[in-house]
Amino acid sequence: MYNLKELALMDENGKRSDGRGIDELRSIKITVGVVKNADGSAYIEFGKNKIIVAVYGPREVHPKHMALPDRCVLRCRYHMSPFSTDTRKNPAPSRREVEISKVMRESLEPSLILSDYPRAVIDVFVEVLQADGGSRCAGINAASVALADAGINMRDLVSACAAGRLSENIVLDINDLEDKEGDADMPVAYLPNLEQVTLLQLDGKITTAQFSECLEKAISGCKLVYEIQKEALMKKYFGNELELKEEA
Ligand code: ADP
Repeated sequence: MYNLKELALMDENGKRSDGRGIDELRSIKITVGVVKNADGSAYIEFGKNKIIVAVYGPREVHPKHMALPDRCVLRCRYHMSPFSTDTRKNPAPSRREVEISKVMRESLEPSLILSDYPRAVIDVFVEVLQADGGSRCAGINAASVALADAGINMRDLVSACAAGRLSENIVLDINDLEDKEGDADMPVAYLPNLEQVTLLQLDGKITTAQFSECLEKAISGCKLVYEIQKEALMKKYFGNELELKEEA
């Protein structure tokens, strides 16, 4: 099953470059409410990715002509800090960042009840402090939690996770090395309660059967992430009560 040519990415026992198994997520830590001046915020460590998200709004739209009479405008800005990668990243927004900002907005929008805030805007700022592959998924996870922290009416959280192909193996949660040296990377965002996919991208080549396996695996990863997102929100809002319950 394991192709030994791919030894750098997976050893003969099926262990990956960072020691994980095929179906293992990197460790994930989410802290809610880290930016004092924002209406909602979250900090996520997703493996070596470190990302901070701040949400402002609903608030008045500037420029005013952007306002919509029947719903709120959602604006997302994904940005990598100059020190977030191994070489200095130009702080000016790249085409990649413009694209990720767009897909992030599209993956978050279906979770929000934007008709509740006509003529307003919600701004989501995603700042990548350290990138290690899968930063769009990690950013979406933190953004959804930050939107919940801001009290925005929503149908569901958005949970995101990638799966990919290393030779014949479909693996969960692609890291930076696997992204660059692997064969395919499929980031997926998912509404876990509504069972709807809101983001599906694919970079690389896979067969139809591998596509289905990859999608299924990514969704199973999203469901694991969802539990961590819920826990982080519960900790902020019911932290003391939870501790008391555990003690009792
Ligand atoms: P994602 O982070 O969502 O996987 P990509 O697949 O485009 O997005 O990027 C994979 C990884 O490549 C990033 O997480 C980051 O570690 C690295 N990377 C992206 N852009 C740059 C850049 N301009 N300079 C150096 N490394 C970068």
